[in-house]
Amino acid sequence: MTAANDTSVSIQDLSLNFGAVTVLETLNLDVADGEFIVLLGPSGCGKSTLLNCIAGLLDVSEGRIFIKGKNVTWEEPKDRGIGMVFQSYALYPQMTVEKNLSFGLRVAGTPKEEIAKRIARAAEILQIEPLLQRKPAALSGGQRQRVAIGRALVRDVDVFLFDEPLSNLDAKLRAELRVEIKLLHRKLQNTMIYVTHDQIEAMTLADRIAVMKGGVIQQLDAPQTIYNRPVNRFVAGFLGSPA
Ligand code: ADP
Ligand code: MG
Repeated sequence: MTAANDTSVSIQDLSLNFGAVTVLETLNLDVADGEFIVLLGPSGCGKSTLLNCIAGLLDVSEGRIFIKGKNVTWEEPKDRGIGMVFQSYALYPQMTVEKNLSFGLRVAGTPKEEIAKRIARAAEILQIEPLLQRKPAALSGGQRQRVAIGRALVRDVDVFLFDEPLSNLDAKLRAELRVEIKLLHRKLQNTMIYVTHDQIEAMTLADRIAVMKGGVIQQLDAPQTIYNRPVNRFVAGFLGSPA
């Protein structure tokens, strides 16, 4: 069985064990092309583990992962057509912003003119043109996170994976970047899978929210549906209306 054509990411009966501990249990999730999915849940519920499985940074114990209809379960991360943005910026401190953006492309052997074109586009979208010759130490937290997003952007991938990209920022910046990520999605119309434990981020960003607990998706629905009609006490307590 393969994923339907309009499915961007399809996760089928995915389980992941660390030794004797089951962290993800027979998990299924179909993400539509262009959809913004938020994985929401308390710390330790398996959000990062799920994202890392999709990215290919962790081997699954059982199950299959399809991206754009192709079984990528055993593909290398670089061959999966995904770009990932982490909580910590993981920029190379000795390189300028421009070199940080181009590094992966240079390693992949992308032609120089193409690299320049993609950097110009990403820098414009993220409004980091004036920062290209600076080094990470000379950037604010918000600027660094923009560069981190830029590194995924220049790779021209179909699917973006975000792991709590705003958690290290203060409330004001978090709110600002939330809006920018939303606009970015509107502009690119690509598929985004976004991990957070922040209910406000989930409510404002998601087309659908997957509420997770103990390695299981408890409910997968539009934000309003989850808020108004939580399927159980856990979801209600985490996100539902107080009534
Ligand atoms: P979240 O991102 O939702 O906070 P994680 O996916 O990081 O949760 O972790 C889920 C569970 O898996 C936690 O109980 C965590 O302790 C455990 N875990 C994560 N990574 C490992 C590992 N490499 N080895 C053993 N257990 C791990
Ligand atoms: Mg995590």
